[in-house]
Order: sequence, then C-alpha cells, then structure tokens
Amino acid sequence: MSPRKFQAIKGTRDILPAEISGWHRIEAAARELFPRYGYREIRTPVFEETELFARGIGAETDIVSKEMYTFEDQGGSSLTLRPEATAGIVRAVIEHNLAADDPAPKFWALGPMFRRERPQKGRYRQFHQVDVEAFGMSRPSIDAEIVEVALAYLEACGLRDCELVLNSTGDAKCRPAYVETLRAALRKEAGRLCADCQRRTETNPLRVLDCKVPEDQPVIDGLPRIGDHLCAECRDHFAEVRRELDLLGIRYRLDHRLVRGLDYYTRTTFEVTSGALGAQNSVLGGGRYDGLVKELGGPDLTGIGFALGMERLVMLLPQAEDEGRCDVFLAPLVPDALDPALLLQRDLRRAGLRVLMENEGRGLKSQMKKADKLRARFVAIRGEDERAKDIWMVRDMAGSVQEEVKAGDVARHLEAKLRG
Ligand code: ATP
Ligand code: MG
Repeated sequence: MSPRKFQAIKGTRDILPAEISGWHRIEAAARELFPRYGYREIRTPVFEETELFARGIGAETDIVSKEMYTFEDQGGSSLTLRPEATAGIVRAVIEHNLAADDPAPKFWALGPMFRRERPQKGRYRQFHQVDVEAFGMSRPSIDAEIVEVALAYLEACGLRDCELVLNSTGDAKCRPAYVETLRAALRKEAGRLCADCQRRTETNPLRVLDCKVPEDQPVIDGLPRIGDHLCAECRDHFAEVRRELDLLGIRYRLDHRLVRGLDYYTRTTFEVTSGALGAQNSVLGGGRYDGLVKELGGPDLTGIGFALGMERLVMLLPQAEDEGRCDVFLAPLVPDALDPALLLQRDLRRAGLRVLMENEGRGLKSQMKKADKLRARFVAIRGEDERAKDIWMVRDMAGSVQEEVKAGDVARHLEAKLRG
C-alpha cells in the first residue's frame, strides 16, 4: 500500500511561485507607501486570548459567534487564531504604552487572518490582510486621510476600477436610539424577513442592513436610515469628512446601508468594492472605532483604520511578470569544466545575478532546452574546445549570437551585459 497523500485544509490555499510576484508587488507597495504618511509597521502574534476578540469584536458578530478558530492549549487557556488585526494591535498599543511618547501613533501591518467561513471564490478560511490604523486623532481630517491612503495604496498596486462607498453610523450618543428605532421597525416586519434577519432584529439589528437575501430587500429599503438620526456632532463630523474628500478630489458614493459587522465602529465607515470580484466584491473596509481602546482596558484613545483583503487585491491585478527568470545558465559539457563552472556560478551569484547550471552531466541539446525553459538571458558553454582555449562560449539567447570570452573575463563580461 502506498502512503496516504495529504491535501491543504479546506479553505486554505498554497500561494505558488507562479503567482508570488503579485504578492511581492502589493507587499512592496505597502512598505513604500505607508511610511510616507507616518504609518510604522507592527507585527503582532497570530493568536491571542479568546476574550480579546470576544470583547474587541463583539460577541454578537458573525465572526465571534461562529467563525473563530478557538482552541484550548495544553495549559488550559482559551486561545484564538486572529480573525482580524485591529484587536491585537490595540492590545499591543495598550500593553507597550505606545501612545505615551506619541499621542497619535500610526501603524500598518500585514499577515494571515483566520475565519471559519464557507469557502468560495475570494473567501477563504486562512486569508491575508493589509491593515492600517491611526490612534488618538478625533478630527475629521484623519478620516479623510485614512480614505486617501487606502485609495493611494490601491493605485500604487495598480488597481484601476473600484468604487469608494461611504457612510456614518453615529456614535454612542445617537446610535443606541437609532438601533431601537430600527428594531421597532423590524419587529413590525418580522413576517416578511428571512430567519437570520429575525434573529438579528433582537441580537444586532444593524446587521439586517447588510442582508443579501433578495426577498428582504424591499423591506430593508423602507427602514429608517441612520443618516436621519445622527446627533449634531456626528452630522458635522461627517459633513467635514465629505468636504475634505471633495477638496482632495476623491469621489465616493453614499450608502446608508453600509454598516460594519464590528460593534466598536463609530461614525465614518467606508468600503472599496470592485465589480470584477463578483459576489465577494469588497476589497477593503474600514472606519472609526473611538470606543475600542477603552473597551480593551486602555486609555480613552480614538482610533480609525481599514483592512484590505490581499487575495482579492491580487486577483484584481494584471498578472505581473514572472520573477523566476534566470540571468545566466552555465553549461559545463566536459567533466573538466565542472570546477570552473562552480567558481563562476559562485562569483556571478555574489555579484547579484540569478544563475543556474546543469549538474547532472546531460548533453548540450538537453541543456539548451533547459536554458530555454528557464528563459535564461545568457548561456555560457564550456566543452572540449573551450577548455583547450580556456574560454567560455557566451550565447545571448535574445539574438542567438555567441562570442568567445576569456575565462578570466567572463564574470565581468556577463555582469556588464546584464547590467548595461
Ligand atoms: P465580506 O463582506 O467580504 O465578508 P468583511 O466585512 O467580513 O468582508 P472585513 O472584516 O472588514 O470584511 O475585512 C476586510 C477585508 O478583508 C474584506 O474587504 C475582504 O477583502 C477581506 N476578507 C474578509 N474576509 C475574507 C475571507 N474569508 N477571505 C478572503 N478575504 C476576506
Ligand atoms: Mg465577512
């Protein structure tokens, strides 16, 4: 019996070398862009105490109630693989007192997140996010900046067609009254709503606005709107955010149904969508979470940020050039050529070139085939003649021209050709 084969766990996927260039591109864009706005990279653990997420995200949310990978470790603690980045970053800000020196610290992060959702295109159980967070700033200008940095990032990655959607969901002063108004309206419509929405009516009425069931849509469209129930401060804040976005030339669509699944979001919420993604059309989502830091035992520090799905962004970008291309392929054809080839290979690699060579002693024809497959720019051949003359035959694969180069000069020669 042959040994059993294994497969990646459902909802997880391998990112294979052929698709890695898109990932490198968006990671490099993050490293380059966010520091321009003062965001510094932070890396937090992939697992935390379960209670951090339960408190930070909200027990009634889908994430906490049914999607978390929670386990007890050998010491009996309940741990959870992070389903999102904000709670961990907030924990780190509090734990290391990061707001002590700089009252308005800014961070960015990237890494894997884990949610036990139903896998489908653009939805996985392990996926990756780029995350940006700004603390300690309550003025509308930072809301506008967060939106601007999100769009600048998408542009830097090469994403063209996407739409920014914007809303305000009020704050602790005005939202509770709106939620009650909404709940009362929903109770009257209970008979016309799906089972999930009937449950949400009691647990988390705002989530009803997010319902995708077609039959529910006419009812939901007729529900009271948060925009008509904002307090004066929230109204002014939102008006100023929009004025600044206009000033920056950023276009958006208002959507009164844009609510985030996370309880701690206040005021500004936004999302960037792309039609090209199909059903899972959200590329990134974010907003303000002024109550969270305090909720997690920290100082009264405001926060705002966004999280972007890296799988979805990579899917949207044009295929980047394969990075696997080889600069020089060495073809030692006689046993005597092996040692010079090993030394040349080392020197060229030290000089920063991508070099591969034939190690299995195959003939010229099969070596040239391999060089072609690797899309090598140059091939350096050393057979009996070349050994006798102490040269390498250097073939430029683009023009199919070849020239004899003295062994002592070949490293410099190839470097000059490839760099020049
Ligand atoms: P969705 O509406 O698609 O479920 P969400 O509201 O759960 O998104 P957030 O929690 O705000 O999303 O996460 C931000 C981004 O992370 C999303 O816009 C999406 O691009 C990505 N994302 C979320 N969940 C997944 C997943 N299971 N697989 C892949 N990407 C995801
Ligand atoms: Mg979701």
